[in-house]
Amino acid sequence: MVYDVIIKNARIPQGDDTVITNILVKDEKIAGFLDNVVGIEAKEVIDANGHLTLPGCIDSHTHFMYQGFPHRENFLTGSAAAARGGITTVIDMPCCSVPSARSVEQLKLKIELVEPQALVDYAMWGGVTGEDVREGWLHNVKEQADFGAVAFKVYMTPSVPTYPRVSDPEMYEAFKAVAETGLPIGIHAENFAMCDYFVKKFQREGRMDGPAWAEARMELAEKVAIQLGISFAEDTGARLHIVHMSTGIGAKLVGEAKARGLNVTSETCPHYLTLNYQEAMTKYGPLAKIAPPLREKKDNEMLWEGLNNGSVDFIATDHAPYEIESEKHKKGMNIWTAFPGIPGVETMVPIIVSEGYNKGRISLSKMVDILSTNAAKHYGLYPKKGAMHIGSDADFTIIDLEKRWTIDLKDQASMCGYTPLEGMELKGKVVKTIVRGHLVFEDVEGSTLKDLSDEELQRIVHKYPEGVEERYSEIFKEFPNLHSQEYEKSYRKEHPELIDQHIRGIKGIKVRPGFGKFVKRQSIQVLPRTITY
Ligand SMILES: [Zn+2]
Repeated sequence: MVYDVIIKNARIPQGDDTVITNILVKDEKIAGFLDNVVGIEAKEVIDANGHLTLPGCIDSHTHFMYQGFPHRENFLTGSAAAARGGITTVIDMPCCSVPSARSVEQLKLKIELVEPQALVDYAMWGGVTGEDVREGWLHNVKEQADFGAVAFKVYMTPSVPTYPRVSDPEMYEAFKAVAETGLPIGIHAENFAMCDYFVKKFQREGRMDGPAWAEARMELAEKVAIQLGISFAEDTGARLHIVHMSTGIGAKLVGEAKARGLNVTSETCPHYLTLNYQEAMTKYGPLAKIAPPLREKKDNEMLWEGLNNGSVDFIATDHAPYEIESEKHKKGMNIWTAFPGIPGVETMVPIIVSEGYNKGRISLSKMVDILSTNAAKHYGLYPKKGAMHIGSDADFTIIDLEKRWTIDLKDQASMCGYTPLEGMELKGKVVKTIVRGHLVFEDVEGSTLKDLSDEELQRIVHKYPEGVEERYSEIFKEFPNLHSQEYEKSYRKEHPELIDQHIRGIKGIKVRPGFGKFVKRQSIQVLPRTITY
């Protein structure tokens, strides 16, 4: 047999040890592992050079802002950032598009629009909001689940205008509807009344400094929100998932709930493990503004501990870029009115490698679990994704564990022009990203994106695929052009050439836009509850 690809000299994890092997790929799937490939034929050889080769890493919490907010990001730039960061599959959130994705029709539209842009594989979160409860649209939950959405997101606090928050009783109704699907319900866990009251109080008191944002949206607001979520999960049997958990106390609560036998899980983000609000919000102000906010050094340490004891299940990024000119540093904007969000998909893997594994905070097997396997299982993508088994998709993240480098804005593929992680010195870098046996990213200057013509960029980035307006005429009637108000007022709307320039400047991409494929949820899987105190 002639194989499609041999990935040579791959150092793959075996528990907490590694072995060097050669990985055979046929039809985009792993076809075998061989110590010696003399006499084995393949159409292509990719050399891993003895570097650590992980099952493709997954970022299960991205906001790629397409369609509707193309001044912030699109699926091409977002997935290019993912590829550069060693992420082979993203799971995109339902809220940051126009319209938001809360029905099968809206999900299908979103997939059709992002398909020509995607560079890595992608699955989709489903949506459920307060409006869906009030309007009697909860039948959409099961339909989205049957279609292949992996989970459902609810917001306890207001975020995107097209994605209304849930009141507490509405959240209870949403839990009941999602419980019937067997899929996780991810909550943005901040108590609305607490956040609203203290933000207004701090504003009255004249606080305009960066740290005020974090102090107003205090730890207690997340704590009581998680407690309410756990109570609802206990009552309804829903699989509660705490997205972007920021506090150490949150990890403690999730751990206790698991120990009681509840299906409660959580993720945290690299920034909650490495940054604290006192330093970052003083230095960066609105550019470090996120919700939930950055916390304290004690939370960094408690969240690492949570990863180790099993109360935090995996890492995701909450990648949410905004446009500096119109949404972060617009004239007259302040810490209260700037939009909350930072990027992350490009730096997640290297930060966990550098600050976690290379500094001895987590073991190799733990790193594989929290960057790849656990998210794949939790969202029903395993073992197609998140596994190095024969028959699994041939997705790999290849890491040079020794390489030292510094996070530099000018190399970022995301259109987000800021990050509070800038200047962070790391040991460990993604050198190659492989999706379904194809080299998608290599840490070199050259890129397929550099040569995209104006016409191609028009077709892929600035226009919708042919016939889409007719096929989704009902949606277009309600949301003409699918543009957000924020886009209409943005800087890049007036300067679309900046988007093209940015795309052509992205380095190291080896495939063409449209390579990435939509991945449906394969099955329903529940992560084992392993708590080790
Ligand atoms: Zn988010």
